[in-house]
Amino acid sequence: MEKVMACESVQELMVDYYYRDLSDDDRKSVAVHLSACASCAMEYCRLEADLSGLGDLLAEGPRPELKKALAVRVQKEFARPWYKRLAEILRSPLPAYQAALLVSAMAALFMLLSVARTAPPAPISASPVFDDVDASTIVSVDPNYL
Ligand SMILES: [Zn+2]
Repeated sequence: MEKVMACESVQELMVDYYYRDLSDDDRKSVAVHLSACASCAMEYCRLEADLSGLGDLLAEGPRPELKKALAVRVQKEFARPWYKRLAEILRSPLPAYQAALLVSAMAALFMLLSVARTAPPAPISASPVFDDVDASTIVSVDPNYL
């Protein structure tokens, strides 16, 4: 004897039916109902379209040739020598950055120059100022002079 399922029960089982996750009895009952009930059949068609679309979406990823092309591009981008990348960064149109770089370069230059300017002077060869004075003789000083 075959139990006739109500529309609500069938609709509750539809997802499991789609994924073939039902017992043989339930599966058969749902199939029989769907073959007889137009609105449930329509509902199942919608569900099937949604679920299969979802499956396609989940399975979808970049195509292999696209992945390969991307990998080649990434390789090319990062295989360039560092100075080329640095030059590109410096050439990039970012006025604030370049101004900051210019200011710091000028500051560095100024500091270098001022360090050079304040370098300790060469020692002056000290020569006696009064080399004609004979300190061994006592010079009498005129008291009016003081
Ligand atoms: Zn129904």
